[in-house]
Amino acid sequence: MIPSVLPTYSRAPLTFVKGEGSWMIEADGRRFLDLGAGIAVNALGHANPVLVAALTEQAGKLWHVSNLYNIEQQQALADKLVEQTFADTVFFTNSGTEACELAVKMARKYWYEKGQPEKVEIIGFQGAFHGRSSAGIAAAGSEKMTKGFGPLLPGFLHVPWGDPEAVQAAIGAQTAAVIVEPIQGEGGIRPMGDAELKALREICDAAGVLLILDEVQCGVGRTGRLFAHEWAGITPDIMMVAKGIGGGFPLGAVLATEEAAGGMTAGTHGSTYGGNPLACAVGCAVMDVVSTPEFLDAVNRKAGMLRQKLEGLVAAHPDVFEGVRGAGLMLGLKCKAVNADVVRAGYDNEVITVPAADNVVRLLPPLTISEDEIAEAVARLDAAASQVSAADKD
Ligand SMILES: *Cc1c(COP(=O)(O)O)cnc(C)c1O
Repeated sequence: MIPSVLPTYSRAPLTFVKGEGSWMIEADGRRFLDLGAGIAVNALGHANPVLVAALTEQAGKLWHVSNLYNIEQQQALADKLVEQTFADTVFFTNSGTEACELAVKMARKYWYEKGQPEKVEIIGFQGAFHGRSSAGIAAAGSEKMTKGFGPLLPGFLHVPWGDPEAVQAAIGAQTAAVIVEPIQGEGGIRPMGDAELKALREICDAAGVLLILDEVQCGVGRTGRLFAHEWAGITPDIMMVAKGIGGGFPLGAVLATEEAAGGMTAGTHGSTYGGNPLACAVGCAVMDVVSTPEFLDAVNRKAGMLRQKLEGLVAAHPDVFEGVRGAGLMLGLKCKAVNADVVRAGYDNEVITVPAADNVVRLLPPLTISEDEIAEAVARLDAAASQVSAADKD
């Protein structure tokens, strides 16, 4: 008999009932160190008092009003994002995949309004992840996500990861945009590289093609800058944001330049919940914390410490790990052993990690994790790795 919850997830046998900072408490009372943060969502940790206060204060005032009216919290969050980024304008969604939907629509509408309606094609990268909507799976293109769900939304091409030359070769008269994660998350913590991102920007500029960045996982302070593309010294035309921006409350956004957003006039897009007062009150509180130089400095300091300790872990367990990759507090352990075994051994040692493609174990701790917690987390990963290598020898 089918379970009452549609069985689309393969779940670990864990039930968390409470969170405190970098810790999650299981129903049986065990305390787990959380290096997953709900897949880069709980950017400020669990039950952060600042976010709890922002949410409860708003909850006592007004939960929801339609986008038929002005929403103060939405305006405030849009202003903060515009002030802190390349963007001139913001649309709010409830998730990353909805941000993908709008990014695709916006790019196509841009060319339509320019009198070039033939420009509909969007070039993406192999191994990408842009969410599970029809546009999201078509943009990512992997058979794992698209099989059985045809006919797929047309107009998407895919080129090998990390290869700006392949993009150059794929651009044609119908190309509207290129979509890319500066660091692939689900794809296995694969950074594009600053030089490659710069090259991509130049190729798009030369060809007159829009650049869409998907910073749903790597954005909002995760890499030690507010957004990951800042390291490469480039800016996109359109950017997708979600996950960390809500700190655990469902919230996403599409940021765009005035030029790129030009086709999106009244009536062309909408969302019932998108930009609702509760979500945006929390989003404002997240932005106020994450966008300060002191906070980002601390992320960079802690990221350096975690990376160094992980290099030591890899060196100590050459039979389990191959190397460390990623940036900031978005790190991946490329495994020699089976990544799922490492994640499972982590559960046994009360440390939470997340598997990714390419046999990688993802580490996406709350950005608020302390140095003591990092040391404790790596000690637990060390115990987990010993368990995996002992099991592999049996
Ligand atoms: C998680 C993710 C998405 C999809 O976000 P949802 O909120 O799950 O719809 C899109 N792009 C990237 C890079 C992601 O990591």
